[in-house]
Amino acid sequence: MSISFKRSQAWIERARHIMPGGVNSPVRAFRAVGGTPPMIRRAQGAYLWDEDGNRYIDYVGSWGPMILGHAHPEVVAAIQAAAADGTSYGAPTVREVLMAEKIRDFFPSMEMVRLVSSGTEATMSAIRLARAATKRDRLIKFSGCYHGHGDSFLIAAGSGATTFGVPNSPGVTAGTAADTLLAEYNDLAGIERLFSEYPDSIAAIIIEPIPGNMGLIQPEPGFLEGLREITLRHGALLIFDEVMTGFRVAPGGVTELFGIRPDLITLGKIIGGGLPVGAYGGRADLMQQVAPVGPVYQAGTLSGNPLATAAGLTTLEHLTPALYARLEDTCKQLEDGLRAGLSAIGRDLYLTRYGSMLCLFFSETPVRNYTEARHCDTAAFARYFHAMLERGVYLPAAQFEAFFVSAAHTHDDIQHTLQAHQEALAIAFSA
Ligand SMILES: *Cc1c(COP(=O)(O)O)cnc(C)c1O
Repeated sequence: MSISFKRSQAWIERARHIMPGGVNSPVRAFRAVGGTPPMIRRAQGAYLWDEDGNRYIDYVGSWGPMILGHAHPEVVAAIQAAAADGTSYGAPTVREVLMAEKIRDFFPSMEMVRLVSSGTEATMSAIRLARAATKRDRLIKFSGCYHGHGDSFLIAAGSGATTFGVPNSPGVTAGTAADTLLAEYNDLAGIERLFSEYPDSIAAIIIEPIPGNMGLIQPEPGFLEGLREITLRHGALLIFDEVMTGFRVAPGGVTELFGIRPDLITLGKIIGGGLPVGAYGGRADLMQQVAPVGPVYQAGTLSGNPLATAAGLTTLEHLTPALYARLEDTCKQLEDGLRAGLSAIGRDLYLTRYGSMLCLFFSETPVRNYTEARHCDTAAFARYFHAMLERGVYLPAAQFEAFFVSAAHTHDDIQHTLQAHQEALAIAFSA
């Protein structure tokens, strides 16, 4: 089987002359799996179409935001109506208030909220606030967790950074790196050691409470609760980065799923409904330290942008219990089918799922942290990936990313995906 990528190929070659790697975000270049990334022309519901006219069932969903599916008619209408009223004012608007209140409905521990324009901005702002509030400089992050491309986070970061094996990006100063302490996910003893080694200087722990950027990893029982207890004991803040997991693993994210109250939460992806938005928020006494009420400076020309809040608010309004029930039904069918496909060929690959996020690790042993994630058979994953692509199934182009299912995916789409899965597994393991 072979489909044509002729037009995509020509455009990517042209793009490489004007943009690094021909892309504006590294994972899109397909470096981890090889080959030519299809140039996407349009999307609707669960599908993408490329410049060569190929159609794909999409399990990337723009890396998380598109939980309602692409070009949802009401989201599109909301953006169009907003655009007709002007695209940016740099002044307060009603939709920003409604959106912040809506976010607090899902995440009650976000007593106050600040909207920004990306997940990266949300995490950078949250740690600035944490440092200001605690008057401490150091930060603990976990190997393989990704918090956007802020300097403090590009220390053993996941996502593209994991895939490309450049966990410590050049350009990050030694001083910044020294303030970021690294821990292994699921290792509470390691956290205790860091706090005894650096008493009174750790401002916060930032974590993807369920990591989705080194594959999708499960917290072991007591791990997240333990982080809450240790940070309280040491006067450090706990920051849940739910940019990916918010509204995904449960309506109220990991925070709801585990009933833990972090001090600060960062959001992005779904809250923008496909437009650029991020948010951070949490304890009111902390958020009151943000300018203009408090001294911690943080601003944005396009923050709370009218188009972004129109798309975001409309998306959040559609996230009903009925929608989550339907998503769960589709995702369960996908999970069961993927497992059945593995059994059929006698392979016991490790598969994880939370809500509408899922990961198929090319590893026969459980993956509990970044060290174990790196033992996956990425060559077999690449063969599987391309076999799926040729069969019209668009998966994340790297082992260390999660699959995202949308409310637009139908049982027929899943059936088609599972048929492709069976054939792709045979190809992945034939080499
Ligand atoms: C995607 C992501 C970010 C960064 O968000 P951007 O909008 O790409 O800047 C931060 N944290 C997590 C957990 C993410 O998945």
